[in-house]
Amino acid sequence: MPESHKPRDFFEASAAGAADHELRRKLESASARHLEHFEQVRDEFSPYEAERTAARAIKQDAIGRLDELLVELAKKLEAHGCKVFFAANADEARGYILKLAQASGAKRVVKGKSMTTEEITLNPALESAGMEVLETDLGEYIVQLRHEPPSHIITPAIHLSKEDIGNLFHEKFGIPYTPEPAELTAEARTRLRESFLRADFGITGVNFAIAETGTLVMVENEGNGRMSSTLPEIFVAIMGIEKVIPRLADLPHFLEILGRTATGQKLTTYTNFIRGPRTAGELDGPREMHVVILDNGRSAMLADPVLREALMCIRCGACLNVCPVYRHIGGHAYQSPYPGPIGSIISPNLVGSAAAHLPFASTLCGACKDVCPVKIDIPRILLHLRWKETSSATPPDWPAAANRARAGARRFAKMARHPRTIRILGRIAAMILKPIAHDGWIRRMPPPFGNWTKIRDFPRPRPRARRAAESPDAKI
Ligand code: SF4
Repeated sequence: MPESHKPRDFFEASAAGAADHELRRKLESASARHLEHFEQVRDEFSPYEAERTAARAIKQDAIGRLDELLVELAKKLEAHGCKVFFAANADEARGYILKLAQASGAKRVVKGKSMTTEEITLNPALESAGMEVLETDLGEYIVQLRHEPPSHIITPAIHLSKEDIGNLFHEKFGIPYTPEPAELTAEARTRLRESFLRADFGITGVNFAIAETGTLVMVENEGNGRMSSTLPEIFVAIMGIEKVIPRLADLPHFLEILGRTATGQKLTTYTNFIRGPRTAGELDGPREMHVVILDNGRSAMLADPVLREALMCIRCGACLNVCPVYRHIGGHAYQSPYPGPIGSIISPNLVGSAAAHLPFASTLCGACKDVCPVKIDIPRILLHLRWKETSSATPPDWPAAANRARAGARRFAKMARHPRTIRILGRIAAMILKPIAHDGWIRRMPPPFGNWTKIRDFPRPRPRARRAAESPDAKI
């Protein structure tokens, strides 16, 4: 694992991300491109708001009766010849898949995109058992070559430029350097094709699972999910319990919004409908199909009246693209398979207390709520999680930097009760800082405030403007 990707304290990792101007440039340009495409296709599609409302209502209904829908789904899948396994936690899910792969003598595993397998850390378990595991989604393939986790739930290699990828392929495959996306994609495709044909075990994630028909739906743009689920003799689909939707007729509402918000497309290139292993007379498809349905903290989210809304997420990644924190620090800083705003609300439950500080990594600007295709009120959930964390009987096990931030906030809260003192201090600060300000901004604050200006400028305090703002005639 490269030095820059070794697990670190969140504060250290986010400070490093924010200080990496090249990373920020790449994130800004990729996120802006995503949003631009989204704006274009949204305007071409007039009932977008109506589709959002419909999708939200369906998800609300589904999470309100998950138990009933999951039983119906499992029955239908079994009737189609699938083996269904309900995993209470990551260990059970990982253990089931590992045992299955070992029992079948699997040597070469191909994987379609699946954040759930990242959540249960499946690849290291299979690799430790001597299997070759290959990510076949292009972005996942690239980050796997770099021995690093994905940095975005939809665009795993968002933190890399085409030049970075050209250099990577040159170094790993010994081919001449090229930054041309078409040539790089062709190179990856040739290598992956060969691996699909040799693979004996396939794994993919699931976007939606239709209870009514017992159908798993997987959307993708590269066709690798289709290859991973049909070419190997044994295929495992893994999904969180929240992926179930009631009826086939519900699906179009989600397909309409997912492609637009995830990648700025009217529709993703492939929509795969998977019902079971191949039957007599069919020429393709796996001999054996297993479906792992994972809880791993989701039931606890369901039991929380505020947090349960997070189970409506369709993992489109749009909230990451608009989040000022994500765009500053990048996905690796979160050290969770689910970064960004959605990661900050689900990670504490799905990956444990190591992510308990993530709800605090937000400015609460609300951009995530505005863009979310199923209108999840992420800021409200963040506040709810902050309240839970700070009011718990056991003091949170936060890193030292978080405790320092909390102590600072407490000192500020005390001071804020004395507006006169603040005004006097403001005037003093304005006088002290005036000589070091340029064009109204301070590039480097004196200690102990130096950390602020490490990654941003500070506006010069203006006592007169403050007084004007406090006057009854001040414009808001
Ligand atoms: S919370 Fe909403 S915007 Fe974010 S990934 Fe989930 S569905 Fe998309």
